[in-house]
Amino acid sequence: MIDYGLTEYQTAIRNLACEIAEKEIRPVAAEYDREGKFPWPVVKVLAETDLFRVFIDDKYGGLTDGTPIMNMVIVTEELSKACAGIALSFAGTALGAIPIILSGSEEQKQRWLPDVAAGKKLAAFALTEPQAGSDAGAVKTTALRDGDHYVLNGTKQWITNGGEAELYSVIALTNPAKGPRGASCIVVEKGTPGFSFGKKEDKLGIRASATRELIFQDCRVPVENCLGREGTGFITAMKTFDASRPGVGAQALGIAQGAFDLALEYACTRRQFGAPIGSFQGVRFMLADMAMKIEAARALVYATARHIDKQPKERPTLYSAMSKCYASDVAMEVTVDAVQIFGGYGYMHDYPIEKYMRDAKITQIYEGTNQIQRDEMARSLISGFHARHSARA
Ligand SMILES: Cc1cc2nc3c(=O)[nH]c(=O)nc-3n(C[C@H](O)[C@H](O)[C@H](O)COP(=O)(O)OP(=O)(O)OC[C@H]3O[C@@H](n4cnc5c(N)ncnc54)[C@H](O)[C@@H]3O)c2cc1C
Repeated sequence: MIDYGLTEYQTAIRNLACEIAEKEIRPVAAEYDREGKFPWPVVKVLAETDLFRVFIDDKYGGLTDGTPIMNMVIVTEELSKACAGIALSFAGTALGAIPIILSGSEEQKQRWLPDVAAGKKLAAFALTEPQAGSDAGAVKTTALRDGDHYVLNGTKQWITNGGEAELYSVIALTNPAKGPRGASCIVVEKGTPGFSFGKKEDKLGIRASATRELIFQDCRVPVENCLGREGTGFITAMKTFDASRPGVGAQALGIAQGAFDLALEYACTRRQFGAPIGSFQGVRFMLADMAMKIEAARALVYATARHIDKQPKERPTLYSAMSKCYASDVAMEVTVDAVQIFGGYGYMHDYPIEKYMRDAKITQIYEGTNQIQRDEMARSLISGFHARHSARA
């Protein structure tokens, strides 16, 4: 791998995450995938080794060394090399905590973040609804004010860490007449009366991750749980994606690298026609392309994460969308080719490679599909052009 100039701290957390991935995740990845079990034993190890602290400010029990997003990226990538579904318990918690980090008051951060940093509480982010996927502005869940509470009603769909997390950053309409401009981001704690979960989804990939419906029926939540001002929920959601999408890029990167490592080993050891298959040009060129795309994706994901850490006040929408979109497209291409290199064995559940292909697909879909990412990139580029030209005129 290219020397990306990681700091001493970043190198240490990468080595630690790598060790956990090899010792605690790889040996159980197939079992958790097959049975769709939530990886609580791994979560416990991540908590004990302080890895949930790496994306949370030191003031709230975290340990970032000033680079929370880069740290989140590094840990997610390493864990995902062994199993992206298990890694998502970590990355989904970061996604759920980011709204608190970005929009929470000092009191809210003190109240919720130390438990996340200690790994005592997992978090989740809830935006999607049955009729509001790419069109996130179409959310219908309401949170209507009643005295010093909001009363939540509605259903959120396909929420990562659903049912397992303790803290949910939920986008709901506090002023339905205003549509998306009337949305707020409200933290709902598991166990709040009126808050329940639907069935766990049976999925193609990332099967160790829990994906569930959140159901709110006259669920009363104190007004103190609203992050930022009422009506700023959508801004919080979009800023959250700006920060979290390099994390999806890192997950995709880990999947691609994990699949590549197995494919390279296989190409060097599997013999046909009296020679390793890696000696045939058709296979060699595939390996070269796979490695080249992975390294290009890594450079983009790392550069974006570093940019966000250095310029936390700037909106990195363009680069976040690029890093998520590019790395996930690479993950899909690389894992399909990895299965090809394994030939018929690649098609068998007995071999670990097909799981990478199944896991890769979701990275092109969630936190905004890659069509939506391309749309965001184009919007950002075109509005940048107009802004520059109107400034000159
Ligand atoms: C396993 C899993 C975990 C998830 N976790 C979470 C979570 O933790 N929190 C959360 O809030 N959500 C979560 N989601 C939801 C996810 O973010 C949405 O599925 C995603 O945003 C796409 O929405 P949709 O599935 O409704 O697809 P749709 O919006 O119905 O899109 C269907 C197809 O149409 C395309 N399309 C739609 N609109 C356009 C357009 N304007 N231009 C071009 N193409 C378009 C899409 O790209 C896609 O190919 C999760 C989903 C899954 C499957």
